[in-house]
Amino acid sequence: MTLVFATNNLNKIKEVQELIPKEIKLISLADIGCFEDIPETQNTIEGNAIEKAKYIKEHYGYDCFADDTGLEVDALNGEPGVFSARYAGDQRNSDDNMNKLLLALKNNTNRTAQFKTVIALHLNNKLHMFTGICEGTITETKHGENGFGYDPIFQPKGYNETFAEMDLTLKNIISHRGKAIQLLVAFLNS
Ligand code: IMP
Repeated sequence: MTLVFATNNLNKIKEVQELIPKEIKLISLADIGCFEDIPETQNTIEGNAIEKAKYIKEHYGYDCFADDTGLEVDALNGEPGVFSARYAGDQRNSDDNMNKLLLALKNNTNRTAQFKTVIALHLNNKLHMFTGICEGTITETKHGENGFGYDPIFQPKGYNETFAEMDLTLKNIISHRGKAIQLLVAFLNS
């Protein structure tokens, strides 16, 4: 089976390829010649995932799945959420985003948060949704060099290290995206 993963993020392709069975041939946006920005105009994580998957099906004709992720911080009423990538501005800079978040939580003892990934799968003209959640806390300072985005300041529940200090294989198993992908893979195998 050939499926498009609607992303240009090489980190995400690398993560997902480790989790997908060999029988499922994952192809990227570049593989189908899609180099334009796919619209993400919705105000929910779910809405953006659906919008991206539908766009590929409609414009390129391929079955595909698209994911959208947000970091929901309890003390900030779920922010940055759907705006996680551009929390500190359109430059979409991870350091700026983390600095803004650390400032917003300065002296705040409630540091609980969760990453949420929603995958929308457009397969045989039906839409299927898979949601993965990873609970944790926002650390006071940045720790670690691995990963991307908010990884240096997100410590998953039950672990004493941030995502950025964690081995990628372990992150793939316990992360929001890993969990959503596991649900997708289970569905594709069924
Ligand atoms: P996207 O929908 O996967 O592009 O994610 C939106 C934003 O959430 C990214 O630009 C990152 O800032 C953040 N993000 C998503 N996944 C992760 C992760 O696994 N670790 C850290 N930050 C992430």
